[in-house]
Amino acid sequence: MKNHQKVNNSILDLIGETPLVKLQKITKDLKGTFFAKLESFNPGLSQKDRIALHIVENAEKKGILKEGATIVETTSGNTGFSLAMISLVKGYKCILAVSNKSSQDKIELLKTMGAEVHVCPANVAPEDPRSYYEVAKAIQKKTPNSVYINQYFNALNIEAHYETTGPEIWKQTQGKITHLIAASGTGGTISGTGKYLKEQNKNIKILGVDAIGSVLKKYHETKELDLNEIKPYRIEGLGKNLIPGATNFDIIDVYEKVSDKEAALTTRSLLKKEGLFCGYTSGAVIQAAIQYNAQQYFDKNSVVVVILPDHGVKYINKVYSNTWMKNQGFIE
Ligand code: PMP
Repeated sequence: MKNHQKVNNSILDLIGETPLVKLQKITKDLKGTFFAKLESFNPGLSQKDRIALHIVENAEKKGILKEGATIVETTSGNTGFSLAMISLVKGYKCILAVSNKSSQDKIELLKTMGAEVHVCPANVAPEDPRSYYEVAKAIQKKTPNSVYINQYFNALNIEAHYETTGPEIWKQTQGKITHLIAASGTGGTISGTGKYLKEQNKNIKILGVDAIGSVLKKYHETKELDLNEIKPYRIEGLGKNLIPGATNFDIIDVYEKVSDKEAALTTRSLLKKEGLFCGYTSGAVIQAAIQYNAQQYFDKNSVVVVILPDHGVKYINKVYSNTWMKNQGFIE
């Protein structure tokens, strides 16, 4: 177990074991008790530290990642930040393909962390050679001694959360959790955490959060990829324009879609009401909790855990900027 009082070997020992905090005001009109799992307490400021470390150490064990190797990945920013941090500690080179939807702050942060960053257009099909998936694959092919992390289709992404986030929440709530609400991007967090929790108690409901403009909710309901669902949207790291192999749709009971505007306003009110300085998808998750409550998903005995994926500092020029909010038409 992580221990802030002991001497640790490196910053990587501080990944995981994030705190659970009771929400006081933002959920006070909802039925049940709400607890937030603060993934911003990871050293890389997001839940992605868990999967990055798990996948890298697995590749090391299998002998796939060798000394002096280059790590290549497709990322909306957080996985890249975690991989860059791990690369610094372990001595790897890190090359990241990032979508131009990711905030400039996130992109600058990746460069600060020593990564080589390739910015790719967001609104092209995944199979387009300009997409961040294809760019990362092409870089990996031409770079000797390199490994593609492939978080969207890597079962180890689910396994990382099955082995860490799930057991932590089970312990922290002393097995009292009744509902989990989590954002779905690659799907690793919700699938791994949800699988562990359902194995402990099959009655626990796993409630997903998707973005308007993404295909996940409809795919979950119909098992069909409906390209008409795809629209540009602003929330980073939530939802998808493809079906990620790292999502176990059978674990998820239901999805709720949230809008860019409501998620942004809720992100700001999470800070104002709780002092929780979290990222855009954290607001999306709380917004989904409000919407699920309106649909009578909870009662007074519900113990709801919401996973808040990352830190607000990555969004100071986005949801926390009045100018950006005005430009989006989200505030007057
Ligand atoms: N929120 C943020 C900010 C993210 O970067 C991601 C990852 N893309 C998610 C939520 C979704 O997490 P997952 O990929 O595990 O579904």
